[in-house]
Amino acid sequence: MGTENPNRPNYPLRPATTPFSAPQNTTPFLSAGPVIGSEASAFRPAPPASSQFPTPAFSSGPLVGPPPSVRPNELFRPPPSIQSSYGPPTTGFQRFPTPPSPSADYTQHQRASLSGLPVVPPPTRPQGGSVSSQAYFYSQPQPPSISMGSPPQNIKTGQFNPSIPPSTDQPFSPSRQNVQPISPTMGPSQVTARGTFQPAFPGYASAQPYSSAPVPPVQPAPFPSQPGGYAPPPPAPFVAQPRGYLPGPPVTTSSVPYSREQVQFRCMAPPIASQGLVEDFSSLSLGSVPGSFDSGVDVKALPRPLGGDVPSKFLAEIYPMNCGSRVLRLTTGGIPNSQSLASRWHLGLGAVVCPLAESPIGDEVPIVNFGATGIIRCRRCRTYVNPFVTFTDHGRKWRCNICSLLNDVPGEYFAHVDANGRRVDLDQRPELTKGSVEYIAPAEYMVRPPMPPLYFFLIDVSISAVQSGMLEVVAQTIKSCLENLPGSTRTQIGFLTYDSTIHFYNMKSSLAQPQMMVVSDLDDIFVPLPDDLLVNLSESRSVVEAFLESLPSMFQENVNVESAFGPALKAAFMVMSQLGGKLMIFQNTLPSLGVGRLRLRGEDIRVYGTDKEHSLRVPEDPFYKQMAADFTKYQIAVNVYAFSGNYTDIASLGTLAKYTGGQVYYYPSFLSVIHKDKLRHELTRDLTRETAWESVMRIRCGKGVRFSSFHGNFMLRSTDLLALPAVDCDKAYAAQLSLEETLLTTQTVYFQVALLYTSSSGERRIRVHTAAAPVVADLGEMYRLADTGAVVSLLSRLAIEKTLSTKLEDARNFIQLKIIKAFREYRNLYAVQHRLVGRMIYPESLKFLPLYGLALSRSTPLRGGYADAQLDERCEAGYTMMALPVKKLLKLLYPTLLRIDDCLANSSSRADDFDVSKRLPLTLESLDTTGVYIFDDGFRLVLWFGRSASPDIARGLLGEDFGADFSKVSLSQRDNEISRKLMKIFQKCRESDPSYYQLCHLVRQGEQPREGYFLLSNLVEDQAGGASSYAEWFMQLHRQVQQNA
Ligand SMILES: [Zn+2]
Repeated sequence: MGTENPNRPNYPLRPATTPFSAPQNTTPFLSAGPVIGSEASAFRPAPPASSQFPTPAFSSGPLVGPPPSVRPNELFRPPPSIQSSYGPPTTGFQRFPTPPSPSADYTQHQRASLSGLPVVPPPTRPQGGSVSSQAYFYSQPQPPSISMGSPPQNIKTGQFNPSIPPSTDQPFSPSRQNVQPISPTMGPSQVTARGTFQPAFPGYASAQPYSSAPVPPVQPAPFPSQPGGYAPPPPAPFVAQPRGYLPGPPVTTSSVPYSREQVQFRCMAPPIASQGLVEDFSSLSLGSVPGSFDSGVDVKALPRPLGGDVPSKFLAEIYPMNCGSRVLRLTTGGIPNSQSLASRWHLGLGAVVCPLAESPIGDEVPIVNFGATGIIRCRRCRTYVNPFVTFTDHGRKWRCNICSLLNDVPGEYFAHVDANGRRVDLDQRPELTKGSVEYIAPAEYMVRPPMPPLYFFLIDVSISAVQSGMLEVVAQTIKSCLENLPGSTRTQIGFLTYDSTIHFYNMKSSLAQPQMMVVSDLDDIFVPLPDDLLVNLSESRSVVEAFLESLPSMFQENVNVESAFGPALKAAFMVMSQLGGKLMIFQNTLPSLGVGRLRLRGEDIRVYGTDKEHSLRVPEDPFYKQMAADFTKYQIAVNVYAFSGNYTDIASLGTLAKYTGGQVYYYPSFLSVIHKDKLRHELTRDLTRETAWESVMRIRCGKGVRFSSFHGNFMLRSTDLLALPAVDCDKAYAAQLSLEETLLTTQTVYFQVALLYTSSSGERRIRVHTAAAPVVADLGEMYRLADTGAVVSLLSRLAIEKTLSTKLEDARNFIQLKIIKAFREYRNLYAVQHRLVGRMIYPESLKFLPLYGLALSRSTPLRGGYADAQLDERCEAGYTMMALPVKKLLKLLYPTLLRIDDCLANSSSRADDFDVSKRLPLTLESLDTTGVYIFDDGFRLVLWFGRSASPDIARGLLGEDFGADFSKVSLSQRDNEISRKLMKIFQKCRESDPSYYQLCHLVRQGEQPREGYFLLSNLVEDQAGGASSYAEWFMQLHRQVQQNA
């Protein structure tokens, strides 16, 4: 989804003798991932006691497995014997304060090598050109030792520089004995607790040191499992469904079989006695008769979502108090009343939920604080009080809309009800009038004090990270965000860098400069200074800034090509595990050393199309999934930023984000000069957007139905509790609904999404969204209330999951089959009555489904085969699409194409007036050679210049660069009206959805492969490669719908 580079080299072919790995059994997208612990009723596990720090989880082998031995066909060099190459053991810690109270685990690491700096670098990497594979290094002679260059001027030698060995007379010692004594500056309470962190906790409920506090008993279980026994339902306040359709034109059957004429209409169907249906549908005249292969469809008449995503308003009209469609969308608003009816709905029955969707200004989610009363919830099913509960017994009782139990109204919450059963205080009770509210949670919703926002950065500083400019952009961006990190004075921060060794940084606020400690023993990772690696940002701000200021120069001469990513990851876990937080990983190369190292795979073309194909898309080493499980358990969300132009095994790295509620960002072949704006914007948003910490989510629903599977980036903690160490407004989750009873007797099904989380300000909160949907008895109603966006979101997640266990082709067929079955079922409802034999008929509500289905089949995770997308790109796109909210997904599938040359050239037209909604069909036919166009899929912008486009525009936008190689040109604003206008239009495009930054790629008509890669292959209506055009696809669907119709 990032900054794809069409020119980067393909993966080198491996020797034919290399055995291919066996398919994995692990299927990371399966929602039934490892269930963590048994805290179904608790929101989080007890934090590990600090006296056990470093956590024993990693000091014992079995959890993470032994360090892998070098496999026979491994292309990697064995890890260099770092320990012996480095300076004398006396160059250990550099003047760092003595850590308090080391544990037995800690002291057992005395033998570990602690080195002040890496003196002997690994082999150098060829400059300039891309390094094609690790195999390259295998035959490289070892270069002579190279020192890492001169220290930055502003840093004291010996204190914070990796390139200068500290002299032995510095006041530190490598021996543990000198490390152990407790610092005199530390009080007793800080011995067991994390000294720098405690004072920053104004929100603590108890004054007890966090680390020594016993885990409070979980009192009323906030999310108990749904009990089975329900009382008989009360008469539900079912609102009659509006049926006021405008009569449409009469249905005309296509009497001319080969006519290209089409008719598209809404109509009022004649009454059907058996069903009493009043239905609206669309149909398209197709020139074919069954068995004919003539394509007679009028291409221009095919339905296209040129107005973007327009969610159905049906449900909102029926239930005005429902939460907004940006939060919850059902694949159909009509819940089938029987299993037999449900089985005729082929598009997935379920919901897409974006629990923290941003609210429009003026419609913010109200905050409710029940104070001493406590949050009003159903005694039995734990549903939160909501607009759909009913008050009876003069206001003394309320009936739960989910399970029908009659609950007592607490005295403090009592209000009289009027003759209509309305509470007299309704105006002051947003929880009884709004579909979305946020409750302030009292102490019983905590098993520990609310955690502070915590950001820990794990940064690759190997040669490629430095040379690409990644390190510099990342350091600068983090520095620029310090002021705006959520959490104010509570925020904690820490850093760890790595190449072939791991570098820790002491950020203690009393220091003038941060201190670096290098650990080179990758087999037995330990944390050299447990207490000062994570610091309170406001206290250590100057140290953190000094560190970020000097980080790029510290490593600018680094020639180390290795990546001890796995060991560094374990170290980060040890540092973070007491608090949780966000782990931001910046990885520029394939992990090559220690546990979790990865090998080149995916370049073997012969695997594609075989049963082993999918194994390339799942992690090979269980290390990553196990680490992800550990991270989730300790409330750590992982975001992976990957930058390499070579294979980095995103399938494995992305697992970390997948199971921790995180996100994968990918900037293939990152080059600072080209990609820095994108990285800067996306990292800034990631760091500064409001984040919900240590959260869990559950979706309750009424009697007879239940959510049976979940799809997205999270880990399931129990059957229906989603563990989300961090959530934000850019994340959505899909869930499938199933009927538990043969027949639903209620008229309405209610859904309630509850997200319990810690806010950045340190409050425990519960965001609650409630919605109602009617139970329907016929399929026509289900179609009428269908929501294409939700259907496509659910189908896309299911199809992407399928690619992890089957061939790509199977996943594409899955989508096609769903659509065919759905339309065939629909046809059976209406075609006979209306004698629409020669026409494709489809529900109005799903008219864009065929096109989205085609676009989905051609999306990066599913398209083509080996040659149609780089494996890493495919995997990254899969991880990304699994988390996208509906609107964003639909835009990615059917991007915006706009013609802009008129606006740019016409001096009287203003950019502000430019209508970004005037979208064109995504086909080559939309492109005029005299035009200039913007293609915007929400992740990138493509600016396409027609061959005969006005030279004035080209000159205005690019000056002399217009003749240059576009892959090297980056567009910036120039001092003329045309350029300013374009930048304004870009700004409009970007502001419409700020979750990603659309970097602009310039493309000339006819310039290959650039034009093909950036634009032509994404014109989803055109035939390309093996993929059908829209018209062909539509005809295929039509033929197959008619079979056995
Ligand atoms: Zn209930």
